Amino acid sequence: MNPGENSKILLLYTGGTIGMVVDPETTALRAFDFSQIYEHVPELQKLHIDIEYQSFDEPIDSSNMSPSLWVKLGKQIEENYNTFDGFVILHGSDTMAYTASALSFMLKGLSKPVILTGSQLPVGTIRTDGKENLITALEIAAAKRNDQSVVREVAVYFEYNLYRGNRTHKISSENFEAFESPNYPMLAEAGVHIHYNESALWVPQEESELQLETGFDDSIAVLHLFPGWTIEYVEAFLGMKNLKCLILRTYGSGNAPDHPDFLASLKKYRDKGVSILNVSQCIKGSVLQGKYQSSKGLQEIGVLNGADITLEAAVTKCMHLLAQDIDPDSFAQQLQLPIAGEMSIMRH
Ligand code: ASP
Repeated sequence: MNPGENSKILLLYTGGTIGMVVDPETTALRAFDFSQIYEHVPELQKLHIDIEYQSFDEPIDSSNMSPSLWVKLGKQIEENYNTFDGFVILHGSDTMAYTASALSFMLKGLSKPVILTGSQLPVGTIRTDGKENLITALEIAAAKRNDQSVVREVAVYFEYNLYRGNRTHKISSENFEAFESPNYPMLAEAGVHIHYNESALWVPQEESELQLETGFDDSIAVLHLFPGWTIEYVEAFLGMKNLKCLILRTYGSGNAPDHPDFLASLKKYRDKGVSILNVSQCIKGSVLQGKYQSSKGLQEIGVLNGADITLEAAVTKCMHLLAQDIDPDSFAQQLQLPIAGEMSIMRH
């Protein structure tokens, strides 16, 4: 394995804690001028990786991330795809799992690494986790074997672990270990050496060419069930103007109330053409519609099975597929099958 000493990596800075410093006058966190990155992380010069950087004009807290900014990022990657061996995106951790998922659906035919990372403490603070995250993410993006990048997908690197991007979920606002990939093995673990989990890495089709698909249709809603739901609550979501797809956050393995009013309401909107996707509130495990009586009703009215997809991947996948010019049958089919490794194919 070549550690990637001659690799050329584009570092894209979108914002988030990692790129902030404590302002000595106000003691508040503010984004630093990214051209000073070598001052804050002088170790980068020792990496012998050819790094270029680009920054959002106005770095954002990732709470302000949006589909138009996903498209902007996708275009930056597309424009620079042939010039660079890999990409590292510095991003706030709060919505990193959504951006990683969105990019995985947009970047069809990707065969180079796109690694998102960030940190819980700013890179300018003494106990920062940002330096290690940034340096190892760059090393992973640069790593090659037989002249080919080792990682050829969108991934998230955080606190010694590399995960498939569209399988990640932020689990902690406090711990350095902020992410988990509840339903898919880690892609790599960084200790003294970086150990890649070969069987988990994405293998692109031979000679695949990058094709950027930029459409996102936000006519979706997420309805989280809780004991005490009312029909007004359910109808408020289903009755939304222009709603095309509802993500129903069910209990356990995809269970929901079998109350006739609830099912009648879902059926009414299904008949009007609204797609409904069953995604569990449990982050680990899979939806198995029909396993319990309490999910049979959903199955009967044509609620789609989200299997073990994360909410982040479900949201971005729905938006992505709705923007494609496909008929309702292929929409339903693609929603229930992996299109970028975001869900496992379940065999019952
Ligand atoms: N609020 C920050 C953000 O997501 C947190 C972080 O950077 O981790 O932008």
